Amino acid sequence: MQRDTFEQSLWSALAPTSAELPPAQGLLHADVTIIGAGVLGLSAALALAEAGCSILVVEAEQIAFGASGRNTGFVVPSLKGSLSLAQAAKLVGPAKADSLLRAVGHAGSLVFDLIRRLKIDCSAEQTGVVQAAVNDAGLAVIDMQVRGYASVGVTLEAADAERIRTITGFAGYRGALIVPTGGQINPLAYVRGLATAAAAAGARIYQGRVASMQPAAAGWCLRTTQGAEIHTAKVISATNAMVGDLLPPVARAIIPLQSYQIATQPLNEDVRRAILPARQPLVDLRNHPFALRWSPDNRLVTGGAALFDGGDSVARMARFLLKRLNRLVPGLPGLRVEHAWRGAIAGTGDFMPRVWDLGHGLFAPIGCNGRGIALSTALGSCMAQYLLTGDPHTLPVPVTAPRPWRVPVLKGIAPSAWLMQARLKDWHNDVKSKR
Ligand SMILES: Cc1cc2nc3c(=O)[nH]c(=O)nc-3n(C[C@H](O)[C@H](O)[C@H](O)COP(=O)(O)OP(=O)(O)OC[C@H]3O[C@@H](n4cnc5c(N)ncnc54)[C@H](O)[C@@H]3O)c2cc1C
Repeated sequence: MQRDTFEQSLWSALAPTSAELPPAQGLLHADVTIIGAGVLGLSAALALAEAGCSILVVEAEQIAFGASGRNTGFVVPSLKGSLSLAQAAKLVGPAKADSLLRAVGHAGSLVFDLIRRLKIDCSAEQTGVVQAAVNDAGLAVIDMQVRGYASVGVTLEAADAERIRTITGFAGYRGALIVPTGGQINPLAYVRGLATAAAAAGARIYQGRVASMQPAAAGWCLRTTQGAEIHTAKVISATNAMVGDLLPPVARAIIPLQSYQIATQPLNEDVRRAILPARQPLVDLRNHPFALRWSPDNRLVTGGAALFDGGDSVARMARFLLKRLNRLVPGLPGLRVEHAWRGAIAGTGDFMPRVWDLGHGLFAPIGCNGRGIALSTALGSCMAQYLLTGDPHTLPVPVTAPRPWRVPVLKGIAPSAWLMQARLKDWHNDVKSKR
């Protein structure tokens, strides 16, 4: 079995340390209890605590132990590139289409404004984020995004092949979308900062694994594995892919997808001036995207999903990711992997976030897929507004019920099948572009 890699991540090595959480004990009461201290849970906790609610956050391990502390740290205020905006509008319905685009388009500013307001020390760099096209399909996505976001007042820039060559320092891209409000952060430090701010605003954050939940007269009764009992009017389940057995309807409706990350050794000034010289994080618009950034201590960081997750998948993926880095970015010096880790994404199949209503005031906002820093910060704060006002207009997506995968066995092979078809589509798009 693969051992957990939270401590191996570059972010664990670089983030300011945080105090251990006190254990949840005895009988506790709250207006709202949030299960999971990732970016989504803590963004909601902060907004609710600042509005004067009595808030409890219960975290099974430690702050940002899930995807929030393990991701690449890209702040990307857009939906997944391969998802057309027309498709997205269809999925949320005409009434929500504009508010979804607006919430997504402003999510980068939301993150960086929050970092500035709360003075979070997380190596934040609002350099803009670059989404580059390798083929005609990618160029069409750029055009669609520039026009789509402009319709809700969000300005994105399109760059031609020459400009993207200057931005990246290497050839191969045909154009790019630059999202000026995006950038990069140390995600673990960001979420630890959100936790400190939520606690300062009055949220009580405890360590404890919620093992069971029963509807009660005035809401819910939650029990942790260590025996704490929590009485609460409302619950936000912010467990993302780590839901386990706690909420079977949620577990049945998502596809946990492992994503792997590596960081090289720190590189010298010559390489830093040659590759991504202005430090804008780069993610390309392939269906199986290649992403690259500089870390605060000048390492290259890249990652991706694996076709198969076996016992030694972290080591295997580290080799694959290093090879791909050397293939796509010419002229790099001898690189070695100094950090390799992985985390789980809660895939929703169509890359769209969801807010699921599980009854009696229990909600599960989920599925920000690979856009969770910006989108989960936004969704957490919208969730808080929804609980405060009861007004569904405060949410960028409709409130729905989770829909289980009809054939559970398909769920097991879905990540590999998705990755294979993504690579096939990329190959097909490349061939079409060269004709
Ligand atoms: C490797 C990787 C790279 C990524 N790169 C990016 C990126 O560059 N940019 C971007 O925007 N997004 C990225 N993402 C996606 C992003 O990280 C997620 O969308 C986001 O972090 C999800 O946050 P969350 O708070 O919903 O869940 P999580 O951060 O997963 O938090 C869930 C928490 O719930 C806790 N929990 C679970 N069950 C219980 C229980 N029963 N009781 C108590 N607590 C419980 C877990 O311990 C965990 O801490 C990436 C994801 C991964 C895995």
